[in-house]
Amino acid sequence: MFVYEEAEIWFVAGSQHLYGPEALEQIKKNIQYVTDYFNKEANLPIKIVLKPLATRPDDIYTLCQEVNYSKKCVGLITWLHTFSPAKMWINGLTHLQKPLLQLHTQFNELVPWGSMDMDFMNLNQTAHGGREFGFIGSRMRLPHSVVTGYWKDKEVHEKIAKWMRVCVAINEEKNMKLVRFGDNMREVAVTEGNKVSAQIKFGYSVNTHAVGDLVAVINSVKEGDISQLIDEYETLYQISPVAQINGEKRQNLIDAARIELGIQQFLKQGNFSGFTTTFEDLHGMAQLPGLAVQRLMAKGYGFAGEGDWKTAALLRTMKVMAKGLPGGTAFMEDYTYDFTKGNELVIGSHMLEVCPSIVDDGVKPLLDIQPLGIGNKADPARLIFSSKPGYAINASLIDIGNRFRLVANALETVKQPNPLPKLPVACAVWKPKPSLDVSAEAWILSGAAHHSVYTQALSMDYFRLYAQLHNIELLVIDEETKISDFRNELRWNEIAYCNPYA
Ligand code: MN
Repeated sequence: MFVYEEAEIWFVAGSQHLYGPEALEQIKKNIQYVTDYFNKEANLPIKIVLKPLATRPDDIYTLCQEVNYSKKCVGLITWLHTFSPAKMWINGLTHLQKPLLQLHTQFNELVPWGSMDMDFMNLNQTAHGGREFGFIGSRMRLPHSVVTGYWKDKEVHEKIAKWMRVCVAINEEKNMKLVRFGDNMREVAVTEGNKVSAQIKFGYSVNTHAVGDLVAVINSVKEGDISQLIDEYETLYQISPVAQINGEKRQNLIDAARIELGIQQFLKQGNFSGFTTTFEDLHGMAQLPGLAVQRLMAKGYGFAGEGDWKTAALLRTMKVMAKGLPGGTAFMEDYTYDFTKGNELVIGSHMLEVCPSIVDDGVKPLLDIQPLGIGNKADPARLIFSSKPGYAINASLIDIGNRFRLVANALETVKQPNPLPKLPVACAVWKPKPSLDVSAEAWILSGAAHHSVYTQALSMDYFRLYAQLHNIELLVIDEETKISDFRNELRWNEIAYCNPYA
């Protein structure tokens, strides 16, 4: 399901034949050295594969075609070790369909003042060679990324690693299929949107499948598999008395396990990496899938409630980006406020469907079975826990009519200040940046959804890169946000992003 192990980033140095064969041989040695260093020492999430030196337009064109056709290659890094006249790159870059990063580095960290001669200068020209390449990137309006610094520098590695993760996620989106069980929640606006435009822009497809077909799979689950899964629940979670072996709602737990196995099987069979449900269409299901959804999200599936396919897709994408990083990523909704003056808080949750990846290490969630006022089904099983405190981001992707808009709000999650004995749901409690009033006003003005993807694993850099590579609008709400400026940004973006879905 995750592609980090197979993925590759291709790496090429640009040069030309002006400096003679000896210089080109030295460049080959240098870039081989840097490649080996990156793969062994830089702690990058993906392997870097070195490609032959780019010195002629035809070779560059061939390389870019190969980047496009390769299933393993998810992005291209260029290094202008010397000057490489950038008209040579036009044809190749015109056809390049994968992310491009220009690594603006030079082989020597320091200037060798005493020994530097013209041979040295012929070899080490990033300072001006990189700018020539930059011109063609800008002239061609490429969404290319730039990382500047010495190649052994940790900060350089971290920036490359972030870009790599976004490349993997963008590549994954092209293969992503989401299934909707049931349609949109009746009359809800923000969860609607243009699925054709989404597929053109992001690559993922969203299709519906009959709830009855899912129920048939759920009903075919073997009893032995259910018992085995319940054993797993008993190892991983605290089980509430009603759900224990002789508890009065034990059957509900068995039904929940059956639903989980059924949905998982349906997703695997159809090669789906995300899904939506709606409590308005549960025909034939014993209960609303709560526990099942929570556990499938924790395995990396995208999900959102009430038919919200955009949030489900964004969750899956963010899960791919965050794979292996500390901190979880979950479906979320702004639930209710605490307006205590000077300590304003947002309580976030979503009925039963918050991913347990956000729980503190070592904490065992409570698996409980409690009534649910909506859906008109049996009491559903759900995991109850509270999010680990610390930095987080809420992100929402909406269809604003002629384009997609991504909104991301920085948060400080706090320890849940009081128990919620009568609200048996998983939750997170946070202080949004820069303050509750500015954050909520900006979020509302932007039209961002009541649903969001809550992540502890990804910094704002990831959202900036993701939006940049897709050329979609990003509105950041953080410490710097002022409503007057934010309103201007909204106004100006109407012009900046005036091409429909471009
Ligand atoms: Mn909802």
